[in-house]
Amino acid sequence: MPDKAALISTSIMEHALCAECIAAKSSMSVAATETTLAVIQRTLDVHRAEARRCHSCDRTTVVFRLGRSTL
Ligand SMILES: [Zn+2]
Repeated sequence: MPDKAALISTSIMEHALCAECIAAKSSMSVAATETTLAVIQRTLDVHRAEARRCHSCDRTTVVFRLGRSTL
Protein backbone atom coordinates (compact mmCIF):
# COMPACT_ATOMS: atom_id res chain seq x y z
CA MET A 1 0.00 0.00 0.00
CA PRO A 2 1.44 3.43 -0.88
CA ASP A 3 2.47 5.67 2.00
CA LYS A 4 -0.35 8.18 1.44
CA ALA A 5 -2.94 5.41 1.43
CA ALA A 6 -1.51 4.05 4.68
CA LEU A 7 -1.59 7.54 6.19
CA ILE A 8 -5.23 8.06 5.20
CA SER A 9 -6.20 4.59 6.42
CA THR A 10 -4.67 5.34 9.80
CA SER A 11 -6.38 8.74 10.10
CA ILE A 12 -9.86 7.29 9.46
CA MET A 13 -9.33 4.15 11.52
CA GLU A 14 -10.40 5.70 14.83
CA HIS A 15 -12.59 8.63 13.81
CA ALA A 16 -14.87 9.62 10.95
CA LEU A 17 -13.38 12.51 9.00
CA CYS A 18 -14.46 14.62 6.04
CA ALA A 19 -12.39 14.73 2.86
CA GLU A 20 -11.06 18.21 3.69
CA CYS A 21 -9.72 17.09 7.08
CA ILE A 22 -8.24 13.90 5.64
CA ALA A 23 -6.55 16.03 2.98
CA ALA A 24 -5.17 18.42 5.60
CA LYS A 25 -3.85 15.57 7.77
CA SER A 26 -2.23 13.89 4.77
CA SER A 27 -0.85 17.07 3.16
CA MET A 28 -2.77 16.25 -0.02
CA SER A 29 -5.33 18.03 -2.17
CA VAL A 30 -8.98 17.03 -1.67
CA ALA A 31 -9.00 15.60 -5.21
CA ALA A 32 -5.92 13.47 -4.48
CA THR A 33 -7.49 12.38 -1.20
CA GLU A 34 -10.65 11.19 -2.94
CA THR A 35 -8.57 9.31 -5.52
CA THR A 36 -6.55 7.66 -2.75
CA LEU A 37 -9.73 6.77 -0.85
CA ALA A 38 -10.92 4.96 -3.98
CA VAL A 39 -7.64 3.00 -4.03
CA ILE A 40 -8.03 2.11 -0.34
CA GLN A 41 -11.58 0.90 -0.99
CA ARG A 42 -10.20 -1.84 -3.22
CA THR A 43 -8.59 -3.54 -0.27
CA LEU A 44 -10.25 -2.14 2.85
CA ASP A 45 -13.81 -1.45 3.90
CA VAL A 46 -14.22 2.35 3.80
CA HIS A 47 -17.61 3.51 5.04
CA ARG A 48 -18.99 6.72 3.58
CA ALA A 49 -21.74 8.55 5.47
CA GLU A 50 -23.62 11.43 3.84
CA ALA A 51 -24.55 13.63 6.78
CA ARG A 52 -22.42 12.95 9.82
CA ARG A 53 -20.32 15.14 12.05
CA CYS A 54 -16.65 15.22 11.17
CA HIS A 55 -14.62 14.37 14.26
CA SER A 56 -12.01 17.00 13.42
CA CYS A 57 -13.81 20.12 12.13
CA ASP A 58 -17.32 19.48 13.60
CA ARG A 59 -19.04 20.17 10.29
CA THR A 60 -21.94 17.91 9.34
CA THR A 61 -20.92 16.67 5.92
CA VAL A 62 -19.82 13.58 4.00
CA VAL A 63 -17.41 11.66 6.23
CA PHE A 64 -15.28 8.56 5.78
CA ARG A 65 -14.34 5.89 8.27
CA LEU A 66 -12.50 2.65 7.99
CA GLY A 67 -14.63 -0.37 8.79
CA ARG A 68 -13.47 -3.71 10.08
CA SER A 69 -13.44 -6.67 7.81
CA THR A 70 -15.83 -9.40 8.88
CA LEU A 71 -13.50 -12.07 7.49
ZN1 LIG B 1 -13.61 17.74 8.81
